[in-house]
Formats: sequence, C-alpha cells, structure tokens
Amino acid sequence: MQTFAINTLGCKVNQYEAQQIIKFLTSCNLLYVQDFKKADIIIIHTCCVTHIASAKSRQLIRKAQKQNPSAKIFVSSCLVNADPAEFKNLDEKLLLAGNMEELFGLLKQQLTAAGIDCKSIDNNMLRKQETIEKFYGQTRAFLKIQDGCDGFCSYCIIPKTRPNITFKPIEKVIEEAQHLVNSGHKEIVLTGIFLGAYGQQTVKRKNWPNNENPIIADLLEKIAQVPGLKRIRLSSLEPADVTDRLLDVMGNTSNIMPHLHLSLQSGSERILKKMNRQYSVKDFAGSIEKINLQLDRPAITTDIIVGFPGETLQDFAKSLSIAKLAGFSKIHIFPFSKRAGTAAEKLQDHIDKKVITERTLKLRELEKQLAEKFRKQFIGEDAQVLIEDEVKKTGRCERYYEICVTSDNPLTKGKIVKCKINNDAVTASI
Ligand code: SF4
Repeated sequence: MQTFAINTLGCKVNQYEAQQIIKFLTSCNLLYVQDFKKADIIIIHTCCVTHIASAKSRQLIRKAQKQNPSAKIFVSSCLVNADPAEFKNLDEKLLLAGNMEELFGLLKQQLTAAGIDCKSIDNNMLRKQETIEKFYGQTRAFLKIQDGCDGFCSYCIIPKTRPNITFKPIEKVIEEAQHLVNSGHKEIVLTGIFLGAYGQQTVKRKNWPNNENPIIADLLEKIAQVPGLKRIRLSSLEPADVTDRLLDVMGNTSNIMPHLHLSLQSGSERILKKMNRQYSVKDFAGSIEKINLQLDRPAITTDIIVGFPGETLQDFAKSLSIAKLAGFSKIHIFPFSKRAGTAAEKLQDHIDKKVITERTLKLRELEKQLAEKFRKQFIGEDAQVLIEDEVKKTGRCERYYEICVTSDNPLTKGKIVKCKINNDAVTASI
C-alpha cells in the first residue's frame, strides 16, 4: 500500500484544504502516515503571508527532501504563487501546484502513472468544491465557505496567491456541516479568506448591492439549525460585516458563540488608509459599540500589525488606545515585515526593527492585561468547555479562551463539559 504524509502551514483555509487532500488520497487507498520517512508521497501545503511563514515552508520542503529523498514531494498553496524566486535552490524535481485544482490534477496524474486507480474519484474533488466529512486531529472542525481576495491591502500577498473568488453554495455548506457533526465534531468554525464576502464575486464592498452583504447572516441562521451542532464560530470579519441582522441572529441563537474576530490592523486612520483597508477607525469603534450592546459580554479578538511603514509613535498610541477601548480578549500581534510583491514593500518610510520590537513588547503587555481583565468577568460563572487535551484537561469555553478543568475523573477529547470558573479565571471545576 502506498503511503502519504502532509504538513500544513498557515491559516484555517489551508488547514481545511489539507483535510480535502487527506480525503482525496485516502479515497485512492493510500495510507496516511505522520512520518516523512515512511511516506511515498509528501505534500507541503505552504503559507507565505509573512517572511517567517515562507521560511518555515522552505524549511519543511528541505526537511522532506533530506529525510526521504526517494519520495515524490508536492508543494502546494500560497508560496507557489507568491514568487517563483522562492523556489530557487530547491530541487527542481519538486511538483508545484498553485491551487487545489492543480494539486488534485497532479496527484491524479502521478498516482495513475504508478498504477493506482483513481478513476472513481469524483470530479468535484478536482473542482475544489469538495466537502469533507471529518477534520482529522482536531475537535473543532473548520468549514471553508469562501476563497479568494481582490482587496489588495497594501501589506498582503494573498490577492496574488488566491485571486479567484469563490464560495460554497448554502446547501453544500449545510450538508457538510451535518457530515462533520455526524462524525463527532461539536464545533464548527466557518472559514474563508474574506468571510464577509461570502456569496459575492468581489471583496470590494463598494461593488456590492447597497454596500452590504446579508447572505452571511442568512447562512449562519440556517447552519445553526443543523441537528446536533453545539457550537458555531465565524473565523474573521471586518466592521461592515457586523450588521444589525448578523448580531440579531448571533444574539438569538444559543449555539452561535458570543465571539467575533474583527481585524483592526491599526488604530490610526492615516495608517489604515496606507494599508488600503476598507474601514476607518471610527467604523471599527462603532462596530465594537454595537456588538457590546447586542451580545452578552462577547469575546472580541483581533489582529494588529506593529510598525507598518510610516507608523509614528502617535499612530502606535492610537492602536493601544483602541485596543483598550475595545477590551480585546486576544490580540494576534504581527510585527511588520516587508513582503516581496506587495505595495507596502515599496513604501519609503520603513520602521527600524528595534523600534518595531519595542512597540511589539508594549502591545504584548497590554494584550496580557486586557485578556486577564476580560476573563475575570466570568469568575464564579458556569462555562461549557470543549475538551481538546485529555492529559492536560484543557479546552476552550464559549468565549474562546482556554480553561483547565480540574476533575478527578478522566475527560474525553471532543466532549463539552459544564464547569464553574474558579477565582484565577483560567481554571474551572466540575
Ligand atoms: S482583505 Fe486584505 S488582508 Fe485580507 S486577504 Fe484580502 S488583501 Fe489580504
């Protein structure tokens, strides 16, 4: 029996696609193994959103080549499209696929040449709208409903790596959610490159009818009715996606978690404009106010880029101040690094690395304080924790922060347990 291993970097969309690849290869009767050394086929599903992600992707390719020189190595996803120079000095025998369609086509070709019958594989899979039934290795399943971006934020390479904007029809999403629930997943995270553009042909709001997209709220309402689905989250939105209708659906549906991820990127209007984002700081603050009014102490998580070209101390101070105002429960901090092929690469006023590090540390400190403050509100209250680690007895609660459950009895991965949050706000007792 032929074997395969896969290693995936990057966002939830990439993680989801890795599951599609596993499904494809296991349907061709290949055995999934963890160890590169034991694999006939190795797939590195790459990311290039930052220089670190590109470097990690290249490292993994080298590791695969070194550990198993006789394996067929496929390199797929974003790094392949970002810049052909990325592959200089890497073996020319690598099989490169810029998107899922190409990857499935290449895999099918190689397997057929090796005498493996993949004729029965549904052509849907090759058209990348294929659904998955199970998310291996995770309690929380990601469900990709949208792909692609033409937003061209000045720091981002994704519009070049995923230019085709597609979405999965509602009926397919519901069907897939039901399959995931049937295979034991209690929680589903709806995922996309630009989730708020679900159902649209472009992510540019000015081209949407009425500049608004009601479809995401409709989808959420329908998916919440999938029998047995205990929890739903949305991966990432922008302020304009948070419509009154969406908040209405969220507030009135018990299995939609009180958690939203809204990417801020900067608290300075000037910097947001330079980033070519589609919202202002004022819009962002308005959304936060609306969310807090309509949901019960929601968790609001965000991304902030530190040290974007031209960011002054005043601009950075504005990021700190909106972070305090929003009371983020978690901030993903990205120290700015030049990404080849983006508009920001060509900007003049790049910030000194030392200054970026200082600002990053300052924001990290604030992040810690805000997260603690957020969690403390819930001391003494009940929480439902989805167990992810049976040994450590940890999992995430409704508001997405990690809780360690103190229990004398074993806890089962993937089960939701009801517990009371202790005085330290991070442990809970059954
Ligand atoms: S919206 Fe901006 S940051 Fe998000 S994928 Fe598109 S270009 Fe990148």
